[in-house]
Amino acid sequence: MRALLLGGTGDANQLADALARARIDAIYSYAGRTQIPLPHALPTRISAFGGAQGLADFIRHERITHVIDATHPFAAEMSRHAVEACDATNTPLVALERAPWMRTAGDNWIEVSGIDAAVAALPDASARVFLAIGRQHIAPFAGKPQHAYTLRFVDAPDGALPLPNAEVIVSRGPFSLAGDRELMASRGIAYLVARNSGGSGARAKIDAARELGIRVVMIARPTLPERPRVESVEQVIAWLGHDARLGA
Ligand code: NAP
Repeated sequence: MRALLLGGTGDANQLADALARARIDAIYSYAGRTQIPLPHALPTRISAFGGAQGLADFIRHERITHVIDATHPFAAEMSRHAVEACDATNTPLVALERAPWMRTAGDNWIEVSGIDAAVAALPDASARVFLAIGRQHIAPFAGKPQHAYTLRFVDAPDGALPLPNAEVIVSRGPFSLAGDRELMASRGIAYLVARNSGGSGARAKIDAARELGIRVVMIARPTLPERPRVESVEQVIAWLGHDARLGA
């Protein structure tokens, strides 16, 4: 057995450590988006594969027997390529994917289908907006330059931002409820723009927005092809045919 773990998330890092503890031969793959990836216990490769074809070539060349897609729920291109490449090479694939967040009492959500719809959902009158969406998605918000934006990135931006009125906070999650409440309250945030990532690591801002009565523009997940899906590290270890307790 030789597993390929498509990563870049906190869940993938926990899985990497569990795979190492269970002594399962595995390679961790990063796209290379962040400057300093979090450490974990597996051998690592960093770079794109070159589409589904490139991934299929990698699977054959490295004699990969199982692929685990633990990428972010919004990393749709990678997930689609994984489905295609695993079909082409007849390699078993499982996705480690957390359930999306569900609206609960007190939530004030505007649910939208994508970034452009999120821009459109913001008001015309100037407001303070926390964009918690990752730096590669902020450019469309230049269409609403009247707002004061607060942005949170893992790495400092390497060039000018496309938004005229923006404050950048450089910080890596997981974030705490108290910290996110303070961040939004101190800046008088009226709108939070977030993607429905699910899980606990990015949830604090959603809970803080509920407590503060802040409107949340919640971007729904992209639609992905059908594939087997599990929600926990232990389930992945069991899917690989190992004793799930070894991954605990
Ligand atoms: P994406 O749009 O689905 O990926 C674009 C391309 O980047 C993929 O087609 C693939 O290139 C390459 N790629 C993505 N993940 C890779 C991986 N783990 N290993 C090797 N190549 C990878 O994804 P994205 O939204 O840009 O996210 C990039 C990475 O950041 C993902 O690994 C994801 O888990 C992580 N991440 C994303 C988010 C998010 O909000 N989207 C949040 C946290 C972490 P080729 O097709 O050429 O192979």
